[in-house]
Amino acid sequence: MEKSELAKLKAHFRRECAEGRFRITPQRVAIYEELARSSSHPSAEDIYLRVREKFPHISFDTVYRTLMTFTESGLIIMVEGHGGRKRFDGDTGKHYHFRCRRCGELFDFHHENWDELCVPPEIEKKFRVREIRVVLEGVCRKCPGAH
Ligand code: ZN
Ligand code: MN
Repeated sequence: MEKSELAKLKAHFRRECAEGRFRITPQRVAIYEELARSSSHPSAEDIYLRVREKFPHISFDTVYRTLMTFTESGLIIMVEGHGGRKRFDGDTGKHYHFRCRRCGELFDFHHENWDELCVPPEIEKKFRVREIRVVLEGVCRKCPGAH
């Protein structure tokens, strides 16, 4: 991620805090920064291990709960997490993911044609759709079997 983009994300975080959506603590700032800096869609465990270097007494539970709070408020997004290991993304801009079934890596991509995807009317009648997620799955170029 570019520096200017990281600065933008941090400004966004501070605004959210100023609006009283979160109580701001140095630990929460560190958790958010770790996520904003990363482009690898880390899990709660990944974030915990990194934040612990700075805050050795922080618990996994605190990190996990903070990530869930951030997700619920829309500050970050959860890319995966239905059944599998939850993966988080600090980039809330419109983009999509390709997931490698071999190594589990998640790759970002943009595709303007999908940005205006419509929810079918019968679904809209039955449910309240909060988010449309597009995840492509296959094998990445680093893994055997890609070609
Ligand atoms: Zn792979
Ligand atoms: Mn992403």
